[in-house]
Amino acid sequence: MPINQSKYIWHHNEMVPWDQATVHVMSHGFLYGSSVFEGIRAYEINGTPTFYRLGDHMKRLYESARIHRMEVPFSQHELEKACHQVVARNDLKAAYIRPTVYQGLGAIGLINDPGCVRVSIAAFPFGAYLGEDSMRDGIEVGVSSWQRPAPNTGSTIAKAAGNYLSSILMSEETKRHGYTEAIALDSNGLLSEGPGENLFIIRDGVIHTPAIHHSLLLGITRDSVIRIARSLGYTVVEQSLPREMLYLADELFFTGTATEVVPIRRVDGLTVGNGSGGPITRAIQKVFFSLLDGTAEDQWGWLEALDRTHQ
Ligand code: PMP
Repeated sequence: MPINQSKYIWHHNEMVPWDQATVHVMSHGFLYGSSVFEGIRAYEINGTPTFYRLGDHMKRLYESARIHRMEVPFSQHELEKACHQVVARNDLKAAYIRPTVYQGLGAIGLINDPGCVRVSIAAFPFGAYLGEDSMRDGIEVGVSSWQRPAPNTGSTIAKAAGNYLSSILMSEETKRHGYTEAIALDSNGLLSEGPGENLFIIRDGVIHTPAIHHSLLLGITRDSVIRIARSLGYTVVEQSLPREMLYLADELFFTGTATEVVPIRRVDGLTVGNGSGGPITRAIQKVFFSLLDGTAEDQWGWLEALDRTHQ
């Protein structure tokens, strides 16, 4: 999927042209994957670019940095303001925003060099991650032979660049096998998540999702969906789930900022339910997207309109 480039990137407090937002090849983050990042969306709602859960994403950015003992040299407020600036400066109506906190050029050893932590924020147009039809038609997935790292081998709760080598192995394998996306098991063989998505399983009217200790990212869309589902009166259980639950599910879906809410229509070659997304998935999608197209009230306080005065 080619990047839809925009004009400017906020790079460590400067707005620089896209081509000039570069990193030295000897940067720690480049050599060792020592960077943490976020993926945030802004939607065009009633003609105004509007951030979705900006504060929650930025809070997670600081938590990821804290886990990896990187001190961010800006306040959360400053970086949120920079997100507004980069969307405004690029004159974007809707955007995918990618803040990255990385170890720049400094020490060569493995200890973090506090003086070389740098921050960039890019914003660019971005469509549906798993394809324009994915929301409606659903996707085909397969369980990957690559498992997630064990909890004590790294932190999946941190959204750290290095973690995505595991996701890339899964995604490459999935593509070879002809699926759209993968599902990973954790190091104990229990269900974890997709390479960039959280997983939901519906059986007999109850919604299940793997719990925090199954080597997954605590997705913000996962949290939104749990809250939306509970508000609709469904029971949502965060727990340990064996692989076979995929095969016995009435409905399955993925969530993520890039992915949004996508039904899974086939898993490991078995059709899920009627193969076209079940009623609970559809009910959750309806609430989720009605918030983002401006047809529903923001009862959750998740939306933040672009403020062009943040210059
Ligand atoms: N798991 C992984 C590994 C991810 O990269 C993502 C995308 N950020 C998710 C889950 C979904 O998280 P969110 O809803 O916060 O985008």
